[in-house]
Amino acid sequence: MPLPVRMTCLYRNCDFLAAAAVPHEISDMNKLNRMIAAGVVAGVAAVLAMPPAQAAPEVSHFKLANGLEVVVIPDRRAPVVTHMMWYKVGAADEPPGKSGIAHFLEHLMFKGTAKNPSGRFSQVVATIGGQENAFTSSDYTGYYQRVTKDKLKEMMEFEADRMTGLVLTDEVVLPERNVVLEEQNSRVANNPGAKLGEEVQAALYLNHPYGRPIIGWRPEIEKLNRADALAFYKQYYTPNNAVLVIAGDVGVDEVKKLAEETYGKVPRVAEVPERVRPQEPEQRAVRTVTLADPRVAQPNLQRSYLVPSSTTAKPGQSEALEILAQILGGGNNSRMYRKLVVENPVAISVGAWYQGMALDDTRFGVYGTPQQNVTLQQLDAAIDQVLADVAANGVTDDELETARTKLIADVVYAQDSQATLARWYGSALTSGATVEEVTTWPDRVAKVTADDVRNAARTWLDKKRSVTGFLVKETTPQEKRS
Ligand SMILES: [Zn+2]
Repeated sequence: MPLPVRMTCLYRNCDFLAAAAVPHEISDMNKLNRMIAAGVVAGVAAVLAMPPAQAAPEVSHFKLANGLEVVVIPDRRAPVVTHMMWYKVGAADEPPGKSGIAHFLEHLMFKGTAKNPSGRFSQVVATIGGQENAFTSSDYTGYYQRVTKDKLKEMMEFEADRMTGLVLTDEVVLPERNVVLEEQNSRVANNPGAKLGEEVQAALYLNHPYGRPIIGWRPEIEKLNRADALAFYKQYYTPNNAVLVIAGDVGVDEVKKLAEETYGKVPRVAEVPERVRPQEPEQRAVRTVTLADPRVAQPNLQRSYLVPSSTTAKPGQSEALEILAQILGGGNNSRMYRKLVVENPVAISVGAWYQGMALDDTRFGVYGTPQQNVTLQQLDAAIDQVLADVAANGVTDDELETARTKLIADVVYAQDSQATLARWYGSALTSGATVEEVTTWPDRVAKVTADDVRNAARTWLDKKRSVTGFLVKETTPQEKRS
């Protein structure tokens, strides 16, 4: 499937596809409960049928004098905290010729400082029974630990120390580059579906660096070195380019005090340039790419459209695209599933997705795997028909209500996971959104109308703004003859 799923690095706790694993933003429960109580949200019966949600998190947001932004999300259910440091830098900020440096630096951040030499931070996390992870996307890089609340200050000290204190030598950099190359091998080079995904993305973006794989292009990864890593680190790892998100059994006053005592002592070491990336011209050509590989067991197709993100969209557009993706391809009640798997069974599986959270124009995707006697071209045409029908005739009130209810219920369920909550805020604040935009997301989803959804399909699902990728089995000439 073209929607990258979150994966833990096979070699270290790295998560370079995290961007796409964050489906959308999160709500302030007070507001959502009020909306439900007032019946503002259509079709909320399903939400109301769920166990009562915990008391709403009162999200706080403030800045330290050195520019570090801090978000605190209280969650008092257990004496644990999730401590996340997010940097406003990702693969799309890399200099030309250095693709993969954001992700490579994420690995190198575990190599130690003068105060805490190699491995010490991770050892302490393991010794106290905590969890840690790190992730890189096109727009951000993040590090987190989940620990008992009494260890929060210690985590903050470690993280503050490596914000500017990283020590790198060739002895640690070069072996780690081999680790990253092996990661590229296992995740992409040996995975035909992932290879096709890279090709589709590269073809979709004519100019914007979102066309580059987050892990980098292999010939460039092979040449990344200590100087590249340090240059990138010194330019972007500074408190005024970071967002600290703490979710858990802790209050805002306590976090403020601890943050001043730890991160407050880290000086601003760089002024960060405005994130102005090369922009896409008008797209004029329908594009297809075909990847043939002998390992393909099941041919399939994936298509991406260039569409506005929650940051670049006009008011309401991004929310309409979220609903459109849900109606078209969100699960077994979706349009695509009903039309193409159940009613006229040309596909084994189909789906649609929208990656709303991004600093610049983003992607809307559809995908499918055909039945054995159906060609990829036939499935492609059948998908076109379903999309054209929505663009021409719109969606039903039932479809709209079901989609809105599902998206808002996801927000409610997310209250269950400290890490998910923290990720929503962290990814939003490093992708151009504000805390307020996160908390008002359900309000805005609730306002999407059937006309908005039809207009989104008409405007954005234009094949000239898309690339369709076909994954086929490569056969040898001998096989072809037989
Ligand atoms: Zn990695």
